[in-house]
Amino acid sequence: MFRKIKIATKLLKWRNLDFKSGYCPLCGPTFFVKLDNYEMAIRCLRCRSSAATMSFVSVVNRLIPDLSEKHVYELSAQGPLVKFLLRSAGKVTLSEYFDDVPLGKYKGKIQCQDVERLTYDKESFDICTSTEVFEHVPHDLEGFKELYRILKRGGVLMLTVPLSPVSKTVERAKIIDGEIQYLLPPEYHGDRIRGFNSVLCFRNYGQDIVDRLDFVGFHHPRIVQGDDPTGWGFSRGVVVASK
Ligand SMILES: [Zn+2]
Repeated sequence: MFRKIKIATKLLKWRNLDFKSGYCPLCGPTFFVKLDNYEMAIRCLRCRSSAATMSFVSVVNRLIPDLSEKHVYELSAQGPLVKFLLRSAGKVTLSEYFDDVPLGKYKGKIQCQDVERLTYDKESFDICTSTEVFEHVPHDLEGFKELYRILKRGGVLMLTVPLSPVSKTVERAKIIDGEIQYLLPPEYHGDRIRGFNSVLCFRNYGQDIVDRLDFVGFHHPRIVQGDDPTGWGFSRGVVVASK
């Protein structure tokens, strides 16, 4: 708790601080806080989701208003999105990638999966979701193929990545013969398990991410603009495709 307050104080820019009431796509009527002018510093005070997560879930709610009969696979195991799915969906399967755990085995209660080599049977899920994962996947086409394989016919993939407005994806790094080769200076992002600036970003996706999904066989891949529930000007493009 003390650590959280310390992080919150660090995040705080007093002149940008703002509060307002509104409707959170994850948890309903609430208050929003803006600690600073970027999406991760904008939060729902009830469920703690960020502006990015709220925008993502606004698209989930718009396209699939009732998740109660759906089996959802989410490529993470913690946080406000996971709690929302556990409350809303009929069945939820969660995983994380750990480099020290065999695929399909558990670290504590969390199953280890590598999206390039999932251990699930084909056509297991109605919906697959992921937020800010694919830019860290070395061979993203392998990951997209795997999600296509485990989705049922008519199933839907919904994901976010940092999405540049330019049309073409820029590759930053590659793995060749097990070695990382940098094409551009390394860029790192943080994550919930490994912490701040700890995960290598393999590419900066452009709008052509939909072509990659098309290439592996997805139907009607597109970018759907999410809502801006707080009204502070932050919304996400969500990549959506069906099988
Ligand atoms: Zn909320």
